[in-house]
Amino acid sequence: MKILNPSDGTLVRELADDDTGAVAAKYARARAAQPGWGAIPLGERLAAIEKFKAETEKRKDELARTLTTETGKPISQARNELNALAGRIDFFLANAKSALASETVLADPQMQEQITHEPLGVVANISAWNYPYFVGSNVFVPALLAGNAVLYKPSEFATLTGLAIGEMLHAAGVPPDVFSVVVGSGATGSLLVEQPVDGVFFTGSYPTGARIAAACAPRMVKLQLELGGKDPSYVCEDADVKTAAESLADGAMYNAGQSCCSVERIYVQERIYGRFVDAFVATVKGFKSGDPMDEATYLGPLARSPQIATLEGQVADAVAKGARLLAGGKRIARPGNWFEATVLSNVGHDMALMREESFGPVIGIQKVAGDDEAVRLMNDTEYGLTAGVYTPDEKRARGILAQIRSGSVYWNCCDRVSPRLPWSGVGHSGVGVTLSTYGIQAFTRPKAWHLKPA
Ligand code: NAD
Repeated sequence: MKILNPSDGTLVRELADDDTGAVAAKYARARAAQPGWGAIPLGERLAAIEKFKAETEKRKDELARTLTTETGKPISQARNELNALAGRIDFFLANAKSALASETVLADPQMQEQITHEPLGVVANISAWNYPYFVGSNVFVPALLAGNAVLYKPSEFATLTGLAIGEMLHAAGVPPDVFSVVVGSGATGSLLVEQPVDGVFFTGSYPTGARIAAACAPRMVKLQLELGGKDPSYVCEDADVKTAAESLADGAMYNAGQSCCSVERIYVQERIYGRFVDAFVATVKGFKSGDPMDEATYLGPLARSPQIATLEGQVADAVAKGARLLAGGKRIARPGNWFEATVLSNVGHDMALMREESFGPVIGIQKVAGDDEAVRLMNDTEYGLTAGVYTPDEKRARGILAQIRSGSVYWNCCDRVSPRLPWSGVGHSGVGVTLSTYGIQAFTRPKAWHLKPA
């Protein structure tokens, strides 16, 4: 496996993929180690995760540079990810004890009923590259706290980060066989899914998620899929145009638009459409693009080169169907995976741009007559991860958001994840929940105890 730097195409490192034998051996060692890990007091597992957090804080600058080198994420955004990781871990540390505690739900003298939260056993954690510390830790931290062994396959575009996560967990006291890093691309991921694991937790694209779901279906293993989105936002005519434009431009372009909850479609009420588009384009034109190692850079390269052709195809299709190209629109001619920040107006749902996940710095802005049309268009998608509305009127916002079919909804904000709230998707955005206390219990099997004293 060749790890290339997306900002200039140079070779960073070469690694050997885990083959069938290596994956099976890691699975066997995890299976043997799990009962011991599940049996130690929760306090010891909490202490190990607390030490892991301290390791990530101690090594933050070096970890941020590694993440930037292999994904192209601007260095300030890599550091932001590591800063926010600490907050996520704190949530799990504070809430694991209550979420995993056994519950007595009936205490009659003749019959007691209890629920205990048993670890699933050995779980596979197949991860994406765009926020490897977030999407990984959402799974492996609560999975380990709940007493599972984890086989963690980082994306082939964030493998060095994945290996660093393994080193830090082991240094923190998690036994090496309880948390193993499985190295490789999709082929290695599918070898991992073939192992007789007790749970598969996947973050990535809908097509891969659908393949994994089909592979797991006959085996009845617990399956969670956190997939893509085509996340819409609607700006009402009473919104502050400049504030909404700045917020949504950041939501569309942060991490070069490569967030699962990036803003992917914008609808604007017709009375403010022209003003909003002007403010949005001005904000985007102010974003500094360049070397991702430069502290001042906001827009870096794309992590994966094939995405450039997808974006070119969406822009060409939209322009051919009547869209107006207001900024960007093409790849940047330099080594590496560069694409201009791109804004299109006069777009519609006959265009791939407004229907298929772009996962890049490209956005379409569509004019709507009012709330009913906005709701209809926002729901006109196979996905359902997040959606937002901008208006000072809370009642109106709540009324609109109540009609939206998505896992998360936002009022006057976007592109936001909270460890305190459940993260889930509707339709092609996935099944299952991470984060919040639901996202701790997701790594357990509730066991029902019917206890009748003799
Ligand atoms: P991807 O589907 O290409 O790859 C994800 C992971 O699956 C990688 O580790 C890859 O090696 C592995 N894989 C590929 N084929 C496999 C197979 N047949 N069997 C097992 N594993 C296989 O996705 P990506 O490019 O890494 O990530 C981008 C996608 O992830 C976007 O669609 C994005 O929206 C989504 N995403 C969703 C969330 C969320 O929380 N919902 C978070 C981050 C990213």
